[in-house]
Amino acid sequence: MVKPMQAYEGKAKKIIPLDDGKVVMEFKDDATAFDGGKKAQFKGKGWLNAQISAHLFRVLEEKGIKTHFIGVAGDNKLIVEKLDMYPLEVVVRNVVAGSLKKRLPLDEGTELKEPIVELYYKDDSLHDPMINYYHAKVLGIDESEVKEMERIALKVNEILREYFRERGIILVDFKLEFGKNGRGEIVLGDEISPDTCRFWDAKTGKSLDKDVFRFDKGDLVKAYEELYARLTGETPSRT
Ligand code: 5GP
Repeated sequence: MVKPMQAYEGKAKKIIPLDDGKVVMEFKDDATAFDGGKKAQFKGKGWLNAQISAHLFRVLEEKGIKTHFIGVAGDNKLIVEKLDMYPLEVVVRNVVAGSLKKRLPLDEGTELKEPIVELYYKDDSLHDPMINYYHAKVLGIDESEVKEMERIALKVNEILREYFRERGIILVDFKLEFGKNGRGEIVLGDEISPDTCRFWDAKTGKSLDKDVFRFDKGDLVKAYEELYARLTGETPSRT
């Protein structure tokens, strides 16, 4: 079961389909956490997430990963290829944090010997439950499709983990979403940003991601700006 990208306003993004097989993805300044239980707005967050996503999609494309990214369109907007989206979240973990602590008897910060890949059904009313191949099949998603998403997710992890390591940042975990393009290929969609990943400074362990908001760890915009600067080598310059 894949769903065409439709005009939609979510918690942190707007999706605006165009007539030519492309979509505008507009990043908002809104932040939500804990199933929408915590909400706030941060001026500049939309710009930072759009730019960081664009940067990381370019890094991945250069390494041969097919993504929906086409280009940046103004301050907080990306132009992407229209995909039929799988209602799945594919999470990859390198270090114990977040909800993994509820599943395994391991302390936060424990490095995993091998990455863990997890599958969640994207459904707010069910609170995005964790599922397996059997549940996916009931949703109309074949095991071979899930395996292909997991293969790409692990490749993305290999590339980004090294990319961040070189910049003194630990890629703790992240969430990806996938879709099918007009040629029937499974392509990486959505965003890759500090809203959807955990990044820790390798020296201090300081969070450079949405955990700053989730757990009141400081100034979210400053953390995202630091991440942007360490990735791009540039000072953020919003217009
Ligand atoms: P956890 O399962 O520990 O809450 O999340 C694991 C990783 O996936 C984190 O980097 C988190 O940001 C990301 N993630 C998982 N589910 C979602 C989601 O529904 N929305 C967003 N933005 N990120 C998610």
